[in-house]
Amino acid sequence: MSIAASILKPTDPGYDEAVFAFDLAELKPAAACVAHSVGEVREAVRWASENRLSVATQATGHRAVGLPPLEDSLLLKPMIDLEPVIDAGERFARVGAGTTWEPVVDAAAAHGLTAMHGSSPTVGVVGYLLGGGLSFYGREQGLACNKVRAIEVVTADGEVARIDDENEPDLFWALRGAGGWAVVVTAIEFDLLPMAEVFGGASFWPVEASEAALSTWLDWTRSAPESVTTSFRIMNMPPIEDVPAPIRGKNLVVIDGVATDNPDGEALVAQLEGIAEPVMAQWGPMPSAAAARLHGDPEDPVPAIGACALVDGFDEEAVAALVEAGGGESGSALLAAELRQLGGALRRPDEAGGVTDHIDAEFVAFGVGMAADPDVEAKTSEDLARVMGAMGPWQNGQRFLNFSDPDSTCSQCFPADSVEALKAIRHEYDPDGLIVPPIAL
Ligand SMILES: Cc1cc2nc3c(=O)[nH]c(=O)nc-3n(C[C@H](O)[C@H](O)[C@H](O)COP(=O)(O)OP(=O)(O)OC[C@H]3O[C@@H](n4cnc5c(N)ncnc54)[C@H](O)[C@@H]3O)c2cc1C
Repeated sequence: MSIAASILKPTDPGYDEAVFAFDLAELKPAAACVAHSVGEVREAVRWASENRLSVATQATGHRAVGLPPLEDSLLLKPMIDLEPVIDAGERFARVGAGTTWEPVVDAAAAHGLTAMHGSSPTVGVVGYLLGGGLSFYGREQGLACNKVRAIEVVTADGEVARIDDENEPDLFWALRGAGGWAVVVTAIEFDLLPMAEVFGGASFWPVEASEAALSTWLDWTRSAPESVTTSFRIMNMPPIEDVPAPIRGKNLVVIDGVATDNPDGEALVAQLEGIAEPVMAQWGPMPSAAAARLHGDPEDPVPAIGACALVDGFDEEAVAALVEAGGGESGSALLAAELRQLGGALRRPDEAGGVTDHIDAEFVAFGVGMAADPDVEAKTSEDLARVMGAMGPWQNGQRFLNFSDPDSTCSQCFPADSVEALKAIRHEYDPDGLIVPPIAL
């Protein structure tokens, strides 16, 4: 069957399903195609070129809101070999485009291994790894994209290539941090970690404890062992059944994380005990696969909007500013105002890494809230502006692609020389600009 039969126009049955995105962004591409094989990806890319459409690649649509208008684009969704292949002996996974983290983590766990997944089991593996990959194993292991061994792609002229540090090294460099740069990825191979069990958990306190919790946590982060990676959040817990009853619908402050070394995890828990009486606290050894759900990210599509920044030099003044802007007295309705802990191996350059081999900041700061209707969206936007504005003096002006605002640009995510190198690579592999860049140039 020719690929033309799989190309869906806006009036075709199945188009709405094909353009549906996790973040509920309303995408209206000129055409959409779900490709189930490398051959179909090649044909779809050639079809787009012949029909003078650019190609925007997507898996789950967790970052669909970052796409430019697609009225002259084919939205291509490669869904190929969604069963991950685990090589337990060589400790790596081979994963087809379209696969999410959950099946990878589960398949790896059967061999006593785990992967450098992020906080959501439903995020796409390829998009996450191409954009850097910030994991609860990050401070010990670095960015997840540094663990990528090989990437298989379809180029803008419809050819197939397998790239690694010896084959097409420039493109391999670009694809480890700069997203789906100039090609469509069909499969990816990456290292697994020999961890059947980790120490992890979360503590929840009333929002009134925000300042004490943030100060204590900040102090702990200054000398924290690299085996532990954590996050701090001020949250409005959703009033839904999935959330445990003691914390459901409440305004709370939360610290969660993972330690790959039990005593280091226990030492963190002891430190947190001085903050206040928790509403709920659950820490201890757990199967590593359970860490994929520890952060409690939404797994069903949600109309969320957010804002992100990298921050440095966070101090007691910053603690007060964040609590004032996002704490209990602020009236914030944000689902979360969050700081993710960086440092350790996340902050160290990796000589064998790609364009983003580390993050030169102390924390990723971000806020996320609902945009279910115009009134809710207006309130969320106001809360986001206040919380992120309060972080202004500590923002370093740079961005990390996976946690970048939809209007972020290439020069915010990468140093100037890397931007030039990325543009040259794009010119070499996609001279006509067929592939929609993952971020504004
Ligand atoms: C709830 C939530 C939790 C998250 N947690 C984390 C986290 O803990 N750590 C972290 O680092 N990031 C995290 N992210 C960010 C996430 O990793 C990025 O948004 C990532 O790009 C999502 O990939 P996706 O395939 O799911 O989304 P999509 O929107 O489908 O894809 C995002 C982009 O990836 C590229 N892409 C996807 N598939 C292909 C392909 N086959 N070929 C070429 N390019 C492709 C495209 O540029 C596409 O625009 C989170 C996001 C959300 C919404």
